[in-house]
Amino acid sequence: MTGLHKLTLAETQRKFTAGEVTAHDIVQSYALRINQVEPKVKAYVTQTVSSAIEQADALDEKLKGWRRTMPLMGMPVAIKDNICTEHVLTTCSSRMLGNFTPPYDATVIARLRGQGYLLLGKTNLDEFAMGSSTENSAFGPSRNPWNVSHVPGGSSGGSAAAVAADECVAALGSDTGGSIRQPAALCGVVGLKPTYGRVSRFGLVAFASSLDQIGPITKDVTDAAIMLNVIAGHDPLDATSANLPVPDYTRAFKKKDLKKLKVGVPKEFFAEGLDPEVEQAVQAAIEELKSLGGTIKEISLPTTDYAVAIYYLIATAEASSNLARFDGVKYGLRAKQSKDLLDMYMKTRQEGFGPEVKRRIMLGTYALSAGYYDAYYGKAQAAREMTKKDFDEAFNEVDLIVTPVTPTPAFKLGEKSEDPLQMYLSDIFTISVNLAGLPAISIPCGFSKAGLPIGLQLIGRPFEEETILRAAHAYEQATAWHAKKPNIR
Ligand code: GLN
Repeated sequence: MTGLHKLTLAETQRKFTAGEVTAHDIVQSYALRINQVEPKVKAYVTQTVSSAIEQADALDEKLKGWRRTMPLMGMPVAIKDNICTEHVLTTCSSRMLGNFTPPYDATVIARLRGQGYLLLGKTNLDEFAMGSSTENSAFGPSRNPWNVSHVPGGSSGGSAAAVAADECVAALGSDTGGSIRQPAALCGVVGLKPTYGRVSRFGLVAFASSLDQIGPITKDVTDAAIMLNVIAGHDPLDATSANLPVPDYTRAFKKKDLKKLKVGVPKEFFAEGLDPEVEQAVQAAIEELKSLGGTIKEISLPTTDYAVAIYYLIATAEASSNLARFDGVKYGLRAKQSKDLLDMYMKTRQEGFGPEVKRRIMLGTYALSAGYYDAYYGKAQAAREMTKKDFDEAFNEVDLIVTPVTPTPAFKLGEKSEDPLQMYLSDIFTISVNLAGLPAISIPCGFSKAGLPIGLQLIGRPFEEETILRAAHAYEQATAWHAKKPNIR
């Protein structure tokens, strides 16, 4: 059977469970697709296709005469390369970890493995997840499948590009300030950042620990719910993971309209700098939510203007501390020919980290240094509390908040790489969600005239992933954006 790579996870699963296709058929279809388009897309840092085929064969053998029940069984998935996979390279797209093979699985991987998923490979990212375009990868950028001269977004650009180009059935990414939602929007796929604490961070290489969260990037909203069902839940190995029951997220789809749902539109998100084509698509989507029964209400999130400044103090401060462990002693790169221990530390870090990572470490170290701590880090923490309060107040009035995901559609490779501030501003609509620890989803809501995808962001109350999934699903059912595919071969 050919063309299996075009199906969603739910569709593939149905065929597999019905015994219409084998795990081998499924992986084989993705293997061919990867061969065909990967030279243009460059989504993967490491491919594990041949071991996925071996595992698929073993699974097919084992399944003879056995009921297939697990949702991810036999499903070929791609994993962002900052999530640890036992015995498989995990580089964070950094020279520092170019040779690093973890001796253990991240909790999310252990859960996928427990279901019998198949790992197709590890996907490209901005080095240590710092960036918005994958151009900060030490191994070169990934490309946007809708137009390969444009970026796929970042930092989970490899995962988003792989899903958009049908190079995997679904993927995992990580989101510290928008890294799941922004690339999902720019590649025309679905990206879900769960509530902080909903999904275990154990085995995710830390960037900014109080903001990082793992989540799915998928072909549609149903698939996002299926993936979240598997990865969500308490983990004793992550002290910040929440000990709360996990609902069956696919049940959120039982309600097919938005009746009784109050939808907030924050006026600060529709200001200067928002591309008119993006604005138009998002306004049309808001109208659609209204015709589905939602009540639309203008709200205000006054601290929106400060989000980028708050984020770049907190994220860099935490990054400078988290990245101190890469010193050439314990794992990863070690510089050769150093005079003494200090020289070895310095040479290793000089050779191992790229320019953006060094910039962040310097910014963060400065913000944390004695004498500046209160003025920068302390102030940012206080302002972060105000951001949370903004959202708390908004959620007294509305059940979910709708905004654009990005100010513009995908930009060209090289267009912003010389100007870090411009690059930082591409996350202006996603960052405050991380500061407040909220769940948010990005779904396709249109295209620019040039044929590049545009995303819609739905933000929910803490641990109310069901509400945003339900609204996203209702919107998806009423529109056809998600069914469009890039014309890449
Ligand atoms: N682009 C943002 C940054 O560079 C967010 C990255 C992320 O979410 N990992 O920090």
